[in-house]
Amino acid sequence: MDGIVRYLPAAKREFLRREGGNFVGDPDRQGTDMLPQETMAMIRFFKSPEEMRCTWVVDDGCVFLYPATQPAPGNGHSVPVQYCAVHSYALERGMDWQSFKQADCVQYPLCVYEQDSRTVLALQEEPGHAGVPCLNNPIGPPMYRSLEGTIIYLLGERFNEKVQAYGREHFPE
Ligand code: SF4
Repeated sequence: MDGIVRYLPAAKREFLRREGGNFVGDPDRQGTDMLPQETMAMIRFFKSPEEMRCTWVVDDGCVFLYPATQPAPGNGHSVPVQYCAVHSYALERGMDWQSFKQADCVQYPLCVYEQDSRTVLALQEEPGHAGVPCLNNPIGPPMYRSLEGTIIYLLGERFNEKVQAYGREHFPE
């Protein structure tokens, strides 16, 4: 935990110190605020919806979110961004971030759940989509390609081949 916390601003480090390093929010102090598809996907990992927990939200964002900058595409100017300290920690150490991070964070913005004895792969429908730039102004590869590694991780190579074939047919670049 110490290695992850070192990415965070002082206020978030202090918050986690006060919580004894526990990064999972207490539902009596913070609601889980999960929407239907996300709940259907996460129920695989919990006994009931009441058991579900989210990370602490501090300063309007996950306690692991930290401010950084990165070069803008095209002109190379630095633009402010927010990174995940858990993700940064894993990447810097060459770790497999998908098996290291929380399950809900790995699948986002996708969700996988069972319905009528079938496995459903869907995009989480939630108000936060309005703030995801690539959904409003696509400039990179389509999601079926950029999230290919996550689809393989969640559902395997054979399922992914079908997703890629469907994507190429219906969303040609
Ligand atoms: S990916 Fe998960 S842990 Fe990381 S900042 Fe986002 S919500 Fe928090």
